Amino acid sequence: MKQLTIISGKGGTGKTAVAASFAALAENKVLADCDVDASNLHLLLQPQIEREEPFYGMEVAVLDEQRCVECDACREVCRYRAIRQGPVIMEMRCTGCGVCTLVCPEEAISLERRVNGALYRSRTPYGPLAHARLLPGAEGSGRLVTAVRLLAENLAAEWGADFILIDGPPGIGCMVTASLTGVDLALIVTEPTLSGRHDLERVLGVACHFGVETLVCINKYDLNAQNAAAIRDYCTSLGIPVSGEIPFDRRVTEAHVAGYPVVHYDSSPAAQAMENLWEQVAERLKEAS
Ligand code: SF4
Ligand code: SF4
Repeated sequence: MKQLTIISGKGGTGKTAVAASFAALAENKVLADCDVDASNLHLLLQPQIEREEPFYGMEVAVLDEQRCVECDACREVCRYRAIRQGPVIMEMRCTGCGVCTLVCPEEAISLERRVNGALYRSRTPYGPLAHARLLPGAEGSGRLVTAVRLLAENLAAEWGADFILIDGPPGIGCMVTASLTGVDLALIVTEPTLSGRHDLERVLGVACHFGVETLVCINKYDLNAQNAAAIRDYCTSLGIPVSGEIPFDRRVTEAHVAGYPVVHYDSSPAAQAMENLWEQVAERLKEAS
């Protein structure tokens, strides 16, 4: 079973538009939405949730006010300044090191796991979907991405799927690392701007570091022919194929407002470009070792 991750150096490049169109075009696959911080693939795939399970983050200190005698010992030993006078524990700062639990004479502090989000197994018109939601400000996004991928692998085994399509997160952080580890192919979606080129270089560096074979697609390539040519030349110099170029097309937004991937909506120029891109990517994915 092969795995493809679609990533971009930053948000707003059209990564999810490509992922949603691939979801509609590909056969016998499982979908994994690993953009757990700002997930929006589900808006285009209309999932029916079949199972939801809590996602637990790391342990944090919890105070039992009834037992506390306000001796201040816990505050004095907390090197992360996670305890204010009172005492009051500031969860956002607590690393769960547990030192405060060791010094408390009243056993008034314990460590507990907090629910940081939820993991979902869903059905969509395009196939099974593994996705998740991280609570705002919650830690553990990399671990949640790994949990989504594990769930997708289980779904793929259950359904006998040929491959897993992963909508990765933007940027180059731990979530991207978790989305790229062990996949067969990565598709980077970029745009013809100077910042797009810069972001492409950064995310390519991450993919190369993990030894993942990479293809590139330039979205809205016709908005700046000069920058698009510069990206093409840059990729050629590195031996990285530019497998597709998608024109600016208002039908993409229209399709998304209607709740569909553009290829499901009509045969606009962008939809045709997405189809051509998928053919190239699918071919490469079949050959990837
Ligand atoms: S568990 Fe560690 S970081 Fe958290 S409040 Fe206690 S001493 Fe501070
Ligand atoms: S060490 Fe225990 S008893 Fe003392 S202030 Fe902290 S929680 Fe309260």
